Amino acid sequence: MIKLIKKITAPNGGVFTGEGTNTYLIGHKDITVVDPGPNIASHLDAIIKQGDNNIKRIIVTHTHKDHSPGARPLAKQLNVPVMGCYAKFDMSIQDETFKPDTILEDKQLINTSEYTLEVIHTPGHASNHLCFLLQEEECLLTGDHIMNGSTVVIAPPDGSMTEYLDSLKKLEHFKIKFLAPGHGDYLDNPKMVIEWIINHRLTREDKVLQSMQKLIETSIEDLLLEVYDDVDPKLHPIALWSLEAHLIRLQERNLVSKKEANWKIND
Ligand SMILES: [Zn+2]
Repeated sequence: MIKLIKKITAPNGGVFTGEGTNTYLIGHKDITVVDPGPNIASHLDAIIKQGDNNIKRIIVTHTHKDHSPGARPLAKQLNVPVMGCYAKFDMSIQDETFKPDTILEDKQLINTSEYTLEVIHTPGHASNHLCFLLQEEECLLTGDHIMNGSTVVIAPPDGSMTEYLDSLKKLEHFKIKFLAPGHGDYLDNPKMVIEWIINHRLTREDKVLQSMQKLIETSIEDLLLEVYDDVDPKLHPIALWSLEAHLIRLQERNLVSKKEANWKIND
């Protein structure tokens, strides 16, 4: 579908990762690898084989353990640089082995003879999250900013719901025809997808606020049962993070506050 892009999915399927992490190879003779995924030898071998000695650099959207741990070992085997950003907060979901040779910044262009990738800083899912716009194809590599088939986890403190919504709105300023997500298949109609996600999040946030108005003061665990009563209990441990992110966003607007272990609605 998209001539300049090849996709290889890592064999790390699961609750967080859907069918697995997507690694993208951009270009033919001057290849950029986006998100090598976890350090799985068979997957790195598949990337090297597909790259056919033309891989020139590795870039990562963010440093969660399902996206970047393959970067260092792959760079070592190919003798190419790794580019990305450090996260602001250490959390158990972060890849501590990540050490970029070059730090990428918002608006930076990665120019090659075949194509240009534009770096777009999109904090929210993670503080150091980057999307990459392949200008020639108007295709946005979204990492975990937008997934196909599941809702993105926002885990504070490195994740922020306010930043996430702002980063979704930021994408409206770019010319984008396709989305190439970190998990799941390509998506077209980006405008509709992005609007749906924003609405979905705001609807959930309304439900959080309504539940808080009803419960007045509550533990986050009790609030979870109320707000995520439509979600499979298997996913509740993940939903707990996003619920905390919603509460922090409501707190930023002075609508709720934290009282020791509980959350309460403000007068
Ligand atoms: Zn992630």
